[in-house]
Amino acid sequence: MNSKLSIWKILFLIFLFVGTIYIIRNQKPYITNSGKIFGTYYKITYKSETDLHEIIKQKMSDVDNSLSPFNKKSIITAINNNCDTTVNEMFTHVFTLAQEISEQTNGAFDITVAPLVNAWGFGFKKGTLPDSTTVDSLRRYIGYNTLSLNNGKITKLYPETMLDCSAIAKGYGCDAVATLLEDNGIADFMVEIGGEVVTRGKNDKGSNWAIGISKPNDNPGITENELQDIISISGKSMATSGNYRNFRYENGKKYSHTISPATGYPVEHSLLSATVIADDCATADALATAFMVMGKDKALEFCRNNENIEGYFIYANKDGRYKTAMSSGFGKYLRK
Ligand code: ADP
Ligand code: MG
Repeated sequence: MNSKLSIWKILFLIFLFVGTIYIIRNQKPYITNSGKIFGTYYKITYKSETDLHEIIKQKMSDVDNSLSPFNKKSIITAINNNCDTTVNEMFTHVFTLAQEISEQTNGAFDITVAPLVNAWGFGFKKGTLPDSTTVDSLRRYIGYNTLSLNNGKITKLYPETMLDCSAIAKGYGCDAVATLLEDNGIADFMVEIGGEVVTRGKNDKGSNWAIGISKPNDNPGITENELQDIISISGKSMATSGNYRNFRYENGKKYSHTISPATGYPVEHSLLSATVIADDCATADALATAFMVMGKDKALEFCRNNENIEGYFIYANKDGRYKTAMSSGFGKYLRK
């Protein structure tokens, strides 16, 4: 009887030992890669035994070579300079999505806004503040429907028209890195480029990924990042556009880097930031910019009419105090 018990005890200990070794061997570490790209910072955390930083950097540089107007050798620069170019798959994907989003937002999002962005001093060519005659003359060359893509070639109605994908390229970059990680068998990761984020699986604590939404900060001297709320997500993408993040002061007036394609002027309303949750990050990024142009009420209406798009807005009320508003499906992502 006793020896029978001891055999069971020994078997149980062996089972425990083998089990523990098995669990330890299957526990992959979380790796974090970070650096600079597209004039901003990236941070990529993923569960893997192999460090994939080199191929991640290659992927981000492919995006830059395709879509950055700051890169003299990129496809977008060739198009802006009217050089004969055949576009690649990345360009085609982003261009097609950008055109769709322009259509859905009645032109609030428009990558042909580049000449105005440059004129207002936020683009790849520096301008001084334009007068109303300059704005009006540039507005002629703005309009997503003046461009078409056929057989790998962009055709422009006006040679003066230029493209600026800054409001969608970071989000697309996150999607491209996410696909690369998935292709390498990685299921748990968070990809962040300049505040735009893609999440999959779980973090190193076995929970959803937590992402902060910053409180608007109007004071250029203050760099610390206070949070308005924290989001908990997995399997979704999130992007934020904020007029407090990139603006310039000229003669005591503040100019935001979001331009209304309809008026040709930087947007001026009480909306301070728009955060979008969507299935892919390029869409979230572009819509966050579009929402800044549309304003809170139209943006909320857009979310109501579009399943899978949720928005969270920080705005200033009449006495200048910050308030928040969100679409009906956003609440489930807020960390309690
Ligand atoms: P951030 O770069 O801070 O993430 P956005 O994603 O909103 O902000 O991108 C803003 C940039 O997009 C501007 O600096 C400009 O280059 C470009 N842009 C400005 N207005 C528009 C617009 N209406 N549609 C598309 N792109 C825009
Ligand atoms: Mg954007």
